Amino acid sequence: MYNYYKIKYETILRRGLEMAVSVAFMQLSSCWGSYQSLFNNHLDILDVLRQLEIVYWPAVVDFKHKSLEEREDGSVAVGFLEGIARTKEDTANVKLMRKKCRIIVAFGACACYGSIPGLANLFDKDELIKRKFMETESITDKNPKEPTQHVPGIEEFIVNIKDIIDVDMFIPGCPPTSENIIAALYYLISLVGEGPSSLDRNKCVCDNCNLFKSGCLLDKGKLCYGPITAAGCELMCPNNGDVCFGCYKTTTNPGKKVKLLKQLLDDMEELDADSGTSLQHFLDLYLGVSNITCFYFRGDLLQRLAYEPDSFKVKEIETEKGPKLTLDVDITETQIINEIVGASLFLLKNDPNFKFSSKTVCSHCDRKVADKVPTELKRDYEGLPSMDTCFLEQGYICLGPVTQAGCGAICPNKANAPCLGCYGPPVGVKDQGLKFISALGSLCADRDVAEVTKAIKDPAGLFNRFTLADSVLGHKYHDKMEEEE
Ligand code: SF4
Ligand code: SF4
Ligand code: SF4
Repeated sequence: MYNYYKIKYETILRRGLEMAVSVAFMQLSSCWGSYQSLFNNHLDILDVLRQLEIVYWPAVVDFKHKSLEEREDGSVAVGFLEGIARTKEDTANVKLMRKKCRIIVAFGACACYGSIPGLANLFDKDELIKRKFMETESITDKNPKEPTQHVPGIEEFIVNIKDIIDVDMFIPGCPPTSENIIAALYYLISLVGEGPSSLDRNKCVCDNCNLFKSGCLLDKGKLCYGPITAAGCELMCPNNGDVCFGCYKTTTNPGKKVKLLKQLLDDMEELDADSGTSLQHFLDLYLGVSNITCFYFRGDLLQRLAYEPDSFKVKEIETEKGPKLTLDVDITETQIINEIVGASLFLLKNDPNFKFSSKTVCSHCDRKVADKVPTELKRDYEGLPSMDTCFLEQGYICLGPVTQAGCGAICPNKANAPCLGCYGPPVGVKDQGLKFISALGSLCADRDVAEVTKAIKDPAGLFNRFTLADSVLGHKYHDKMEEEE
């Protein structure tokens, strides 16, 4: 398996180099921080930019809104949405982008979970307008009033973008780190790019393999995915004695040895360690799964298998040894490829060793941790935290245990500040705030409840600072839907 990471890295770079990918960037109501973080890559951005064909980005290139409206539906490969749908114009733009773009990326904490503007869901629209335009301390107008001309209407409350349209990918963070954004862009380019000019989907890897006539790895019982992988690869792992893991993705014309591959899988009742690792690497490369920790892609079947295994339908297929159960997937138009992927997922589903890594900020934190049990709880401004010990153990609320890893734990590691939770909950956790309250309850089990609650002045703002519009507290969209039912 030594060549796996090398393949992945080289494949992503090669695929990106050939053909520009069309992208549209839309700013909704936001502070532009996520785009600023992209630009903070400075010169490193140049290599990515030349691989993108920017068709809409009002703050950067001079394409008018009408030009996006006039584009054919589905003609843009990737659309980035930054910000929240606070105004009716935002909501219309969210829907417009869904129509024009094949992949929609929620970019930054606002687009993913509502972020800090989502805290507005604790108030009514009239209260918000009054506070903003009539009461704010900095207003100098003697008769302040709500502006009504040349401004879009304000939505009653914030509905998360994923509740307005289907979102394909999520890049969290307030803002996402510059490195995360570049990594995500490279990943997207590898996923939707046309691929290198050598790619030939009508052939498969076996067609160029020196082992085809003699010494084929499948004949030796090794899972080699060459028969279902498109030709064009220059590394040709099998010519060096390593199996093909499928990084050139699907061929339209599986090779003759596909039946042998299928049979090897059909004969497996359960996975040993090597086969389990092989299948996971294969699916990772073949399906284009992202290895970026914080990046969530709904089409990622391995993530789905780990966290929503029951969302797959199980179906029975015929094999030489009789009927066999498999998962029903539909990733290509070639039945035998769908069956091989379905069988691989089925085997992994029942493999107790199958794990999909979803780490939290704590796992990247350099501080010394004993048990995370807090001393007397403190507010951030009270005292001066030590730079070495876990914040929780010093009594400061730190959301690291309930926050998706990916930022490198920059606040506790570099800013001597507790994690505020801007990368949102780890995959599998529905409500970041509730999860933290539950964890805090356990950590403070032998404390007086009144003493603990007294120290928490603003529970919604503290535990759901970035996710309130997506939490049970501020999820007004769902409250409304339930009322209407
Ligand atoms: S299955 Fe693998 S080893 Fe066998 S011919 Fe195809 S690419 Fe070569
Ligand atoms: S300081 Fe925060 S992020 Fe670091 S270990 Fe403690 S709780 Fe986790
Ligand atoms: S440590 Fe927490 S608050 Fe800071 S950037 Fe990372 S996820 Fe965001």
